[in-house]
Amino acid sequence: TTSAPPAAASTLARPPAKPAVFIPVNRTPEMQEERLKLPILAEEQAIMEAVAEHPIVIVCGETGSGKTTQVPQFLYEAGYSSDNSIIGITEPRRVAAVAMSQRVAKEMNLSQRVVSYQIRYEGNVTEETRIKFMTDGVLLKEIQKDFLLPRYKVVLIDEAHERSVYTDILIGLLSRIVALRAKRHMPLKLLIMSATLRVEDFTQNQRLFPQPPPVIKVESRQFPVTVHFNKRTPLEDYSGECFRKVCKIHRMLPPGGILVFLTGQAEVHALCRRLRRAFPHTRRRPPEREDREDSVEEMRKFKKSRTRARRAAAAAAAALPQISLDSYSVLPAGEGDEDREAEMDEEEEEALGSDLDLDLGDDGEDGGEQPDASLPLHVLPLYSLLAPEKQAQVFQPPPEGTRLCVVATNVAETSLTIPGIKYVVDCGKVKKRHYDRVTGVSSFRVTWVSQASADQRAGRAGRTEPGHCYRLYSSAVFGDFEQFPPPEISRRPVEDLILQMKALNIEKVINFPFPMPPSVEALVAAEELLIALGALQAPQKTESMKQLQRSRLSCPITALGRTMATFPVAPRYAKMLALSRQHGCLPYAITIVAAMTVRELFEELDRPAASENELAGLKAKRARVAQMKRIWAGQGASLKLGDIMVLLGAVGACEYSGCSPQFCEANGLRYKAMVEIRRLRGQLTTAVNTVCPEAGLFVDPKMQPPSESQVTYLRQIVAAGLGDHLARRVQSEDLLDDAWKNAYKTPLLDDPVFIHPSSVLFRELPEFVVYQEIVETTKMYMKGVSAVEVQWIPVLLPSYCQFDKPLEEPPPTYCPEKGRVLCHRASVFYRVGWPLPAVQV
Ligand code: ADP
Ligand code: MG
Repeated sequence: TTSAPPAAASTLARPPAKPAVFIPVNRTPEMQEERLKLPILAEEQAIMEAVAEHPIVIVCGETGSGKTTQVPQFLYEAGYSSDNSIIGITEPRRVAAVAMSQRVAKEMNLSQRVVSYQIRYEGNVTEETRIKFMTDGVLLKEIQKDFLLPRYKVVLIDEAHERSVYTDILIGLLSRIVALRAKRHMPLKLLIMSATLRVEDFTQNQRLFPQPPPVIKVESRQFPVTVHFNKRTPLEDYSGECFRKVCKIHRMLPPGGILVFLTGQAEVHALCRRLRRAFPHTRRRPPEREDREDSVEEMRKFKKSRTRARRAAAAAAAALPQISLDSYSVLPAGEGDEDREAEMDEEEEEALGSDLDLDLGDDGEDGGEQPDASLPLHVLPLYSLLAPEKQAQVFQPPPEGTRLCVVATNVAETSLTIPGIKYVVDCGKVKKRHYDRVTGVSSFRVTWVSQASADQRAGRAGRTEPGHCYRLYSSAVFGDFEQFPPPEISRRPVEDLILQMKALNIEKVINFPFPMPPSVEALVAAEELLIALGALQAPQKTESMKQLQRSRLSCPITALGRTMATFPVAPRYAKMLALSRQHGCLPYAITIVAAMTVRELFEELDRPAASENELAGLKAKRARVAQMKRIWAGQGASLKLGDIMVLLGAVGACEYSGCSPQFCEANGLRYKAMVEIRRLRGQLTTAVNTVCPEAGLFVDPKMQPPSESQVTYLRQIVAAGLGDHLARRVQSEDLLDDAWKNAYKTPLLDDPVFIHPSSVLFRELPEFVVYQEIVETTKMYMKGVSAVEVQWIPVLLPSYCQFDKPLEEPPPTYCPEKGRVLCHRASVFYRVGWPLPAVQV
């Protein structure tokens, strides 16, 4: 169908789907008109009938078809939020949860008190909330508090195609919750929404859904998108390639927004800067040198191709306009290879045929010596760490007489639909965190996207009219892409999930109905870590290897584990919180954990500078930050707490300054990270107070620095939490070769690891350290480093030690009641690195 019937009429049309209640919504006529254009409106009846008749329904529809904004409204109107209940929608991304709740509130003409959001650090949920957007992690926590989710009549899992770990596990859990609720005669509806049709993991999985749920496909009014591949093998400098491509599109092609896909925040900013200089809003300020050269180069190419374009346009007018796929090539980057350049230009004209025709028609016949750069480009960045107000700008129409150009990371692929995009420039890459399961080393890697992602990106160009997608790689390379991105659960450690599941009394994790289960190795690694942290009961030593293997995957949770599971942080940090209820350490531990959880506390200062001036500024700031870090780390005991002390010092200093943007700017701290830390401190304080009300903490952003003895306790707490991340410096007599100079050895890695140069312990080189993470760049670097005293190891981290006689008693433990470590007299060998001579403790 092409014209959708009005929403209300369609829901009320057929008696079986007629809702018990109909809640009217007072939308503005403009909004109503805009909604009626969305393809999903044509499926309202089908969706609502399916929901009425089935407990679980899958809705598939192209990005932008209206799933996220409209389905919650259908459900609201049909009374699924009556009797004080809530319609819940989960999003894998915080950005989406916030932006979508705002959009839906606006569409429905309701306040954010009614259509609200909850993400880890914040939310605006009230008693009046009827539609609640949240991140999937938030719903998981709610399930833990009350497994049956009694406040919800319906839960929507959005972006299920992304296959984020939490989405997968939520779907597994909800399949059980739906069954339980049915038994208790309080039915719960589950809607799974996906932007692709690839839903077999949900429909063909008997263990998950014994009855395959109905799949409703939204016929989307997607306009054709012409895909142009690069002819040449892909270039290293894809950012530069994006720049040239955007310049060409802007100068030569008819109006329509441009959306560029890059991989990271720094790249996005660099390209935005370059584009703003090349196409300024006001033309008074001359472009800077580098860009002027670019412009001259661009202009030369432009003139040349323009002449050809005219010829081609004339030819195209004679023949049927034929758009060739697969043959598009970008201009080579000033390589001076004239012949090849000419050849490519011609191919390009062919590819662009009819569009150029239009363009030249507008342009008139005045010779056109000047490139049409008078039209300013309205350049906007978009990435997930961008402040919400700035993110919202991409939804506004660009200022009169400008062309919109959004430079985005992957967030624009499916979560957010930007209106008015006609051209997509796709670098073909994506930045992903890569985990090495065995070693726990994580690194960000830029890799090729999957074919499915590339097609999603291309699709962004055909929302309002036929569009074009320029892929900066060849069709042969595309042919080698993976078909689909692998689900996240198959790529990352799962200890946090396993702990959450154990806390839900799902002991045999291996039997859980995952849409796609994690590998057995990942499950074993997770259980081992949780056992080492004391969150799970270790299997009995007497069992046979085989029994041991089996019981490994069904270890019950301990009391400590339960406490840990109540904190909304990863198990290692949860352990720190659980241990810190002594000597007034809690407020500090909360701050440390908050700061460690919020990534990238410090501004990125190693970025390439665009000008001499900027470079000088960056250098000065780097020196200033290094100096501040030394001050925050302090001397003696506190320096031994290392980078963790820096976090504590930075947060403390920032709070004393009133947490001002100016203070952050001056000291190289990310203001947004600081605000998040403050929020998380508040939230963790509440969590701690809930677990042990007698702690009676209150949130005081300003705190006194810890005393020297408190620092020592904090070092032990940090060591106990990060215990499986222990490393020992290679002693000079053990030096194998120069590659091991100043290197550390960890139990799992064969290669040397080093203290990161940004660490305050970089020059201190303590013998034993624990680290927050190992990041692989040119070398393996430990970040977030803290020194450990050798005597603590047998006590806090006994799994690293071999005791010279079997222990009759359980291994020594940290004893919170006594506030000190209980030691066993034993000689121990440290298994970290090369064995040490026995040490008496
Ligand atoms: P889907 O979830 O199927 O990808 P959405 O419901 O997110 O689709 O989007 C439906 C439409 O609403 C799109 O055309 C999109 O451009 C529009 N839209 C979404 N958010 C906003 C906003 N904040 N401002 C303006 N339009 C928006
Ligand atoms: Mg959506």
